[in-house]
Amino acid sequence: MSRSPPILLWFRQDLRAGDHPALSAAVATGAPIIPLYILDDETPGVWKMGGASRWWLHGSLDALDAKLRALGSRLILRCGTAREVLKHIATEVSAQGIYFTRGYSPHDAADENAIAADFKNMGVECRRFGGNLLFEPEAVRTKTGTPFKVFTPFYRACLTQGTAHETLNVPKAIPSPQAWPTSDLLKRWSLRPANPDWAGGLKEHWQPGSDGAKDRLETFLTERATTYPSDRDRPDREGTSALSPHLHFGEISPRQIWRQTMKASAESGTGDSGRTAFLREIIWREFSHHLLHHWPQISEAPFNATFKRFPWRSDEQSLDAWQRGTTGYPIVDAGMRQLWHTGWMHNRVRMIAASFLTKHLLIHWQEGARWFWDTLVDADLANNSASWQWVAGSGADAAPYFRVFNPILQGTKFDPDGDYVRRWVPELSNFSGRNIHAPWESSGGSSNYPAPIVDHKAARQRALLAYDEIRKK
Ligand SMILES: Cc1cc2nc3c(=O)[nH]c(=O)nc-3n(C[C@H](O)[C@H](O)[C@H](O)COP(=O)(O)OP(=O)(O)OC[C@H]3O[C@@H](n4cnc5c(N)ncnc54)[C@H](O)[C@@H]3O)c2cc1C
Repeated sequence: MSRSPPILLWFRQDLRAGDHPALSAAVATGAPIIPLYILDDETPGVWKMGGASRWWLHGSLDALDAKLRALGSRLILRCGTAREVLKHIATEVSAQGIYFTRGYSPHDAADENAIAADFKNMGVECRRFGGNLLFEPEAVRTKTGTPFKVFTPFYRACLTQGTAHETLNVPKAIPSPQAWPTSDLLKRWSLRPANPDWAGGLKEHWQPGSDGAKDRLETFLTERATTYPSDRDRPDREGTSALSPHLHFGEISPRQIWRQTMKASAESGTGDSGRTAFLREIIWREFSHHLLHHWPQISEAPFNATFKRFPWRSDEQSLDAWQRGTTGYPIVDAGMRQLWHTGWMHNRVRMIAASFLTKHLLIHWQEGARWFWDTLVDADLANNSASWQWVAGSGADAAPYFRVFNPILQGTKFDPDGDYVRRWVPELSNFSGRNIHAPWESSGGSSNYPAPIVDHKAARQRALLAYDEIRKK
């Protein structure tokens, strides 16, 4: 125990003890440290966490507290407007400093600057660190100094910046203050649903926290990395890492992933195209965060302004069918049910389901993004906004709008034996093979599976006409 004034270590989307620059810097001062997490549903402009994310957050905070306790520390919990809570607790404990990891959401920079100004006035040191991206948004620029709008040159520019990412160890111990401030009780935050408890499927599938992240990465690198290029588009196989919620909550850093992956690659002696393809996806995550940082409006408005005129339809009934997985298109419905049950959906199916909503149904991508925000355990403002805009055709470096996925062909191509659909749509369990993707074409099908809510050809035609309309204008 040390008598010098403590440093507040404000945890945000960095719920880990390893490779944590702010924590390592705080420990290096030798001062006592008060780790703090603030549940902030009040700051204007903050996207309030959805139900599935709240479920995850509970587990993640629990796991972080256990890690900190093993290092002689603990996690203090408070709720309210982050700026106010920080000022209050800093005064309460006579803090000498506040250290934290920067964020990339639209309000983060403004909030962080306001917090820095508050602490300057109070004579308290305020230090902001990176750690949740491989490259800070200011560091990767085109030759003319502007931010990138296209992925491939962005990717190349990242690689030329270097690929030997160093990581920081978990500190051996964290000095504690003479007295701990009071903390809220995690269970009082009611982050987990009670009546009804809809989180059974989430519990079955996930282990929030950095140990869960480490296990996922190890399993991926030993069992799946080499087949990643061929399996990553197959929802019927466990071909991807499922690290997205762990990355979103910062339970593992991209540098830890990068380093471990390069190490596995060097040790394996086998071809490493799988690992290269995997690391390319980590750079897609960087790209989304760069986009959100430089164009903070992408969560609210189309990146391509032409789409401001797009004739989106309002159709509650179809939106409801999409959300519940009762559109009558098996691959879409399987995805939406996987999402509801597990809080996660395979990337290929996210693209198909998002395309179906924005093109077959002509429903605004923001309706889809909001549903994903509430139901995904990996709901992430950067990845979600950029990906929805990419599919809808309005984003940076987006898929062209006229590319309308055919859900039947997508199903037969990426779920050729129908195993994925059979798993999530039990009404279709009698169907064998690829027939399952167009059940209405077979006689003796399922009587309790709905007919398609739109005809594919007619819906495609309608989407193309709508697109022509905004192009002409
Ligand atoms: C409509 C739509 C919405 C999406 N919403 C989200 C979201 O809210 N949160 C989220 O993390 N991802 C989102 N994605 C991107 C992607 O689907 C998920 O990151 C991926 O499916 C997570 O599974 P994984 O961890 O097994 O991925 P892996 O294939 O193992 O990839 C490793 C990591 O790379 C990153 N990554 C992979 N694909 C992408 C991508 N296309 N864009 C950005 N980063 C990527 C993720 O952090 C992922 O964990 C969305 C995609 C679409 C089409």
